[in-house]
Amino acid sequence: MVLSSVPAQLNGSRPAGREAAILLAPGSSDRSHILALLRLGDFSQDAFLATDTDGAIVYMNRSAERLFGYRRGAAIGLPVGRLLPDVHEVNARLDEEGARSTLLWRGCGQHRQSGPLALAGAATHIPSPSGRSHLYVMRQRRAGLGDGDRDRQAELASLVYRNTSEGMLVLDSKGVILDVNPAFVSLRGRAEADVVGQHVRCLNSPCHDREFYRAVWRTVLETGSWQGEHWGQHANGELYPEWLSINTSFTEDGEVHRRVMIFSNIAEIKQAEAIIWKQANFDRLTDLPNRQMFHDRLEQSIRKARRSGGRIGLLFLDLDRFKEINDTLGHAMGDELLKEAARRLSACVRQSDTVARLGGDEFTVLLDDVREPRDIERLTRAILRSLAEPFHLGVETVFVSTSIGVTFFPDDATDAETLLNNADQAMYSAKADGRNRSRYFTVSMQERAQTRMRLVNDLHLALDQHQFTLDYQPIVDLVSGQVIKAETLLRWHHPLRGLVPPTEFIPLAEETGIIRPLGDWVFCEATRQAAEWRQRFRQDIQVSVNISPAQLRQEGLDFAFWGSHLNTLGLPPQQVIVEITEGLLIDSGDDRIRHQLEAFRETGVQVALDDFGTGYSSLSYLRKFGIDFLKIDQSFVANLHRGSADHALCEAIILLAHKLGLRVVAEGIETARQYRLLADAGCDYGQGYLFSRPLDPRAFEILLGAEADLRPI
Ligand code: C2E
Ligand code: MG
Ligand code: MG
Repeated sequence: MVLSSVPAQLNGSRPAGREAAILLAPGSSDRSHILALLRLGDFSQDAFLATDTDGAIVYMNRSAERLFGYRRGAAIGLPVGRLLPDVHEVNARLDEEGARSTLLWRGCGQHRQSGPLALAGAATHIPSPSGRSHLYVMRQRRAGLGDGDRDRQAELASLVYRNTSEGMLVLDSKGVILDVNPAFVSLRGRAEADVVGQHVRCLNSPCHDREFYRAVWRTVLETGSWQGEHWGQHANGELYPEWLSINTSFTEDGEVHRRVMIFSNIAEIKQAEAIIWKQANFDRLTDLPNRQMFHDRLEQSIRKARRSGGRIGLLFLDLDRFKEINDTLGHAMGDELLKEAARRLSACVRQSDTVARLGGDEFTVLLDDVREPRDIERLTRAILRSLAEPFHLGVETVFVSTSIGVTFFPDDATDAETLLNNADQAMYSAKADGRNRSRYFTVSMQERAQTRMRLVNDLHLALDQHQFTLDYQPIVDLVSGQVIKAETLLRWHHPLRGLVPPTEFIPLAEETGIIRPLGDWVFCEATRQAAEWRQRFRQDIQVSVNISPAQLRQEGLDFAFWGSHLNTLGLPPQQVIVEITEGLLIDSGDDRIRHQLEAFRETGVQVALDDFGTGYSSLSYLRKFGIDFLKIDQSFVANLHRGSADHALCEAIILLAHKLGLRVVAEGIETARQYRLLADAGCDYGQGYLFSRPLDPRAFEILLGAEADLRPI
């Protein structure tokens, strides 16, 4: 720091007590005067330091103690350079000016703990017989503030105080309100005259107890400030959340001068926070806790159960056939159904249990303190019964049921994720066992799930590694007995597990999306085969391929690719049939699927409805979508005998289909009797072990080449 002598006044305020310094000179005759002056020095706001001829401190007043952070006893005797590092330069200047001179200076000081200080002051010699001692008077310099600056700052502060939207009030050191700003008046609805002169405790709100206020003020007394959330009360009694900060301004001697309280209304912020919290944790449709909240509660329950040694029950529910209802009656009705299902579920459980909606038609129930796993039985029965009751949605009445998976902590797993997986697997097994029931998680379920996962991994490689082949099952004209069509059936030759049935891997391929490339491969290979057989055997041979709904959903099929493939092969599209299932038509609330089906028809590819009778069996769909063939599901054919209900049904289906211009294929014909009944009913084509099992291409060619009549004798 550069020292400079300040010729004029020291920023407009001269340090007091310079005269006293002269009287302090050692050797002065009147000691009592000196002592009196020393006492007075303690009342000066300026810091005093006096040194002996060696430059050691011999006196410091109270202000100097505060300024430099030393107790007087600790400073006396220290070289003054410790407190005033630039002191040598000051002294040198003084020496230059002569023995009786007084020098105004600016320089730096050193606080014992907090380091450098910017100082301004005066210094003078005290002549004594043994040399020169010095007296320094100084105060801390506030950076860059002149009087003009200070006035402007005061003006600004007042402007802010008057116009801010934060309520402010000023207290004296005893807590008496001295002033409030306009924002405070409107925030609290209390007139200035009403509160000024009162103790601040008149603002205490009934939301906080005495202990709260005691703790607040204890902190203010100790540290000078406090801040935190506080419930403020309007004069009309209304309570609102506010952010309260309390700060203190001190006099130069460290006494409390004023306290300032600032009140910010945070009701809106709180409200927004609450909304955000609710959105993040609750399901908007049903008002039930959502997945996020459910996870939190599950973790919390696990922690509690670990401590107490208790047991938790976890139920995973999935409504049966909800998608069909949603798609046929529309999403608004679907939403109503979910809301009602949520209400019924909540009514089945205790207040302390958590019912959550994970998404879609999936719900969970979390039960703390389950004594016996079997205790759950009563609850699952109640839920199944309650959800099986009819749902009245506007003018419609619909029926759904639910499948429930049950698992326990700590019996089945000890962490949240595994528990949820277990419950999910158990739910799947309830579905697989025929829906509308509950299943407990078992280890074998877990093993099945693991096998499934391994299979999914293997499935990813299978196409590239040429593990798939196609079998062809002859479809026979029931009048001539000739093979005139073939259904393509996909086969997976797993390197370790051998032949994996399509009923096992097609659902996995659908879930993982592998069905898209796999379906394309099946189509290309089957049509290539058909084109070859067309050349070598029958001009009119038709080959059908099964299409998964998953192939048509999302971006759909690449018709341009399929079309150009047929073109390249020179195979007329009419010789290709795609087999779709009824579920797909029900999905057609989705326009995309309808367009996809229309696109097939436009290219000339024919469409067969597979497994007819197992789903909705709605004949109106057949007309709407322009289906060419109808395949009666093998479950009808299996128990076919004269005069049975299935016989009547088959006859009715065939009759109606013919009226609608469709031809009928019966699946799963295994006996001559079945064949005869169906042929008599006018069924057009048949497929089943009676005629032939699915064959590899070479075996199929032999059959085709023989042009045999496959009808039983
Ligand atoms: P699906 O389309 O209904 O195929 C007929 C199923 O019935 C075939 O089973 C066939 O082997 C079997 N079957 C034929 N005749 C008889 C009979 O007389 N008695 C009995 N009990 N069964 C008979 P597979 O080959 O196991 O195929 C099962 C299902 O897998 C197929 O049912 C089809 O939905 C699906 N699938 C097969 N290949 C493909 C494919 O390439 N793509 C897609 N998306 N699905 C396929
Ligand atoms: Mg089929
Ligand atoms: Mg079928």
